[in-house]
Amino acid sequence: MIQRFGEEHEAFRKTVRAFADKELAPHVDEWERDEMFPDWVFKRAGELGILGAHYPEDHGGSGGDYWFSVAKGEEYLHIGSGGVAMGLLVQSDMATPCISDLGTREQIEEFLVPALRGERIAAIGVSEPGAGSDVAGISTVARKVGGDYVVNGAKTYITNGTRASFITLLCKTDPEAGYGGISILLFPTDTKGFSVAKKLKKIGNHASDTAELVFEDCRVPARYLLGEEGKGFYYLMQNFQTERLIAAVGAVAGSQAALDRSVQYARDRVAFGKPILKREVWQHRLVDLYTEVEAARQLTYHAVDCYNHERYVQRTQLSFDTVKKVSMAKLYVAEVADKVMDECLQLHGGMGYIEETFIARAWRDQRLLRIGGGTSEVMRYAIAKILGF
Ligand SMILES: Cc1cc2nc3c(=O)[nH]c(=O)nc-3n(C[C@H](O)[C@H](O)[C@H](O)COP(=O)(O)OP(=O)(O)OC[C@H]3O[C@@H](n4cnc5c(N)ncnc54)[C@H](O)[C@@H]3O)c2cc1C
Repeated sequence: MIQRFGEEHEAFRKTVRAFADKELAPHVDEWERDEMFPDWVFKRAGELGILGAHYPEDHGGSGGDYWFSVAKGEEYLHIGSGGVAMGLLVQSDMATPCISDLGTREQIEEFLVPALRGERIAAIGVSEPGAGSDVAGISTVARKVGGDYVVNGAKTYITNGTRASFITLLCKTDPEAGYGGISILLFPTDTKGFSVAKKLKKIGNHASDTAELVFEDCRVPARYLLGEEGKGFYYLMQNFQTERLIAAVGAVAGSQAALDRSVQYARDRVAFGKPILKREVWQHRLVDLYTEVEAARQLTYHAVDCYNHERYVQRTQLSFDTVKKVSMAKLYVAEVADKVMDECLQLHGGMGYIEETFIARAWRDQRLLRIGGGTSEVMRYAIAKILGF
């Protein structure tokens, strides 16, 4: 059997599980109602070394490999709130990996280290009212004026957006240069001219805040440019793989949790004189779902193996083969999760349709997976390109 998690990973997993079970789970219903979990959650996750476990020590992390991030992503999903998991994963696995890859020493000290401590809340700003899947179609512009960039534009659907201390922001530094005119800025939200236009109401992930943001003549120093000017699109494509992989990891764990809880429900719920679980029709449906979740897990773990080897052992850019496997994992897992949640809700009967039940929340939270971080159609598009179609 392949040993992916060693003793250190398992000890770390216990820390995350204790944090999730004791410090998060008891409050989740309240945070779902409030449509936001509190800021201390980031700080506490930072104190426990959870956010930085898979980052180098001189970047404020613990120097672990990517399997630490996998263990964390799996444990977050046990609490039954996609929103809390999403907010925390944006902080450590979506808005920040490119700072570790490309940041100057000053940028790492100013943005990454406090983010991994949970002291500065991070967001990633890519999507706009006029462009989501078509990333190169963004219209937020950052023009160089003296020693500053002046940013104008808008972003939408931004997770952690109402309270972020900084945004890893995709903008056009040369609007005429196509893919080569896009750059990434580290944008502090206390910059004059920045505002949160709206907190968006969502059908799921209620405990995370999602916002529409406006940038009006915001001046940020040129030293906040991440990497080289004009390479932002290519940097983002690498960063997207991290985002997609952790989304797949979380979705497998969420599907497994929904199945396990549903089996328990079917064991206890009696209809026509015997537990629903004793009906062969349900046994077979559940067996199919367990099989699909296992297949999804193995595909995801294989993608993690490739990712971990290239990023943490060889320390290279990701190959097209790994990008293909990550995209396949995101695509497949999202579709499996969709099916699992729907069948599990069905198994609960009327109880599945009642607002406060675990399965109702899991069902609506997981729907984001086929949309966020690249839709299923965009995954197919990317895979078709790599396959040379
Ligand atoms: C809760 C939530 C949180 C989010 N958090 C963030 C965040 O933190 N930061 C951030 O930057 N973004 C965030 N997003 C945005 C998310 O990444 C985008 O919604 C997603 O990339 C899709 O973009 P879009 O919504 O503009 O859809 P569109 O691009 O308008 O697509 C609409 C439909 O057309 C399909 N489509 C598009 N192009 C093609 C094509 N070439 N071929 C076939 N079909 C196509 C899409 O698959 C989709 O079904 C979040 C979204 C949600 C809902």
